Amino acid sequence: MSKTHPTLTIDLNHGAKVLEVPTGQTLLAALKAQEVHLASACGGKGLCGFCKVKVLFGAPAPGPVDKQKLSEDEITNGMRLACQMELSPGADLAIEVAGTLLPARSYRAVVERIDPLTYDINHVRLRLVDPAAMTFEPGQYIQLDRPASAECPGVSRAYSMASRPSETDIVELMIRRVPNGMMSVWVHECLAIGDEVSLTGPFGEFALSSRKLPMVWVAGGSGMSPFWSMVHHLREIGNTRKVYFFFGAVALRDLFLVDEWRTLEAELDWLEFIPAISGGEENWDGERGLITEVIARHLPEIPSPLEAYLCGSPGMCNAACNVLTDNGVNERMIFFDKFA
Ligand SMILES: Cc1cc2nc3c(=O)[nH]c(=O)nc-3n(C[C@H](O)[C@H](O)[C@H](O)COP(=O)(O)OP(=O)(O)OC[C@H]3O[C@@H](n4cnc5c(N)ncnc54)[C@H](O)[C@@H]3O)c2cc1C
Repeated sequence: MSKTHPTLTIDLNHGAKVLEVPTGQTLLAALKAQEVHLASACGGKGLCGFCKVKVLFGAPAPGPVDKQKLSEDEITNGMRLACQMELSPGADLAIEVAGTLLPARSYRAVVERIDPLTYDINHVRLRLVDPAAMTFEPGQYIQLDRPASAECPGVSRAYSMASRPSETDIVELMIRRVPNGMMSVWVHECLAIGDEVSLTGPFGEFALSSRKLPMVWVAGGSGMSPFWSMVHHLREIGNTRKVYFFFGAVALRDLFLVDEWRTLEAELDWLEFIPAISGGEENWDGERGLITEVIARHLPEIPSPLEAYLCGSPGMCNAACNVLTDNGVNERMIFFDKFA
């Protein structure tokens, strides 16, 4: 007979939901079981620091991981990491999570296509099955699950959606193969057309503002993913905001969808596509240099004030942010989606 745990009550967002959940698990797991999906790129291991909740009542003392991932102000204001909070009998809670998280839920989907974009990036197209549609903003991400097996304990990883919100039954991802990566190697080597996968989402606040300012977009590698969603969304809604998309790569083999972006650029008078390679290959008539150097060369021609959206490795995002602020771009107008 399985052991049953006593329950406790969690008041979510001032009574928006009141949950009766078993103790003996983390708050993150308890919320997930009730279809309240907090962002958690590391799957609850205390590595990403994404699963923040504000504990209004019943906050435990902050643990070492809370102290590492949260600022002193956040801790003083009752923020805790849900993956670090073990639920114990009698310790009822009142918590607050971002309202944008409440629509996140789990989905079953079927792999419809897998297309290589480069030697290490695959474009994966999933068709949602249950539920069969997702509402999201271009720029948001989902968490893909790899089921537990003899080789792997079961992991969940964040991937930005490349698909457009109007195709509500489709989730497209651009996934780079990370050497020895538990999820990305599985996606590249094991996932096949027709397979069923589970995912949760949508998550994230990397979304286009409603300002009318020109936008600089900067990406490297699979960091193109949210911009592919954004450009198609903007095209569909009849955008007129100017967009300058800087796409950086080391070598020609790292560039992808260049012809498709150039076709979009020819069609859309608000789009400028600026791909660049930093290596010395001959067969390339586009921009050369580190993407930061290319941005610095172009910034004087771009009307300001402007907004900047950066997506890719933390190193690239930080370097691009520095070059933008050094050239007078307001830090508060720079938005990130760091793949870390
Ligand atoms: C909000 C968000 C959105 C993301 N969107 C995308 C996306 O659209 N496309 C995409 O390809 N990735 C994206 N990522 C990264 C993705 O979530 C995984 O971290 C990545 O796929 C590696 O997972 P893994 O399980 O394969 O590797 P792991 O098993 O977690 O890591 C294996 C080893 O590689 C190292 N490692 C982990 N990540 C990287 C990396 N990016 N580069 C180099 N070394 C690494 C680790 O330190 C470890 O040593 C996103 C991350 C975040 C936080």
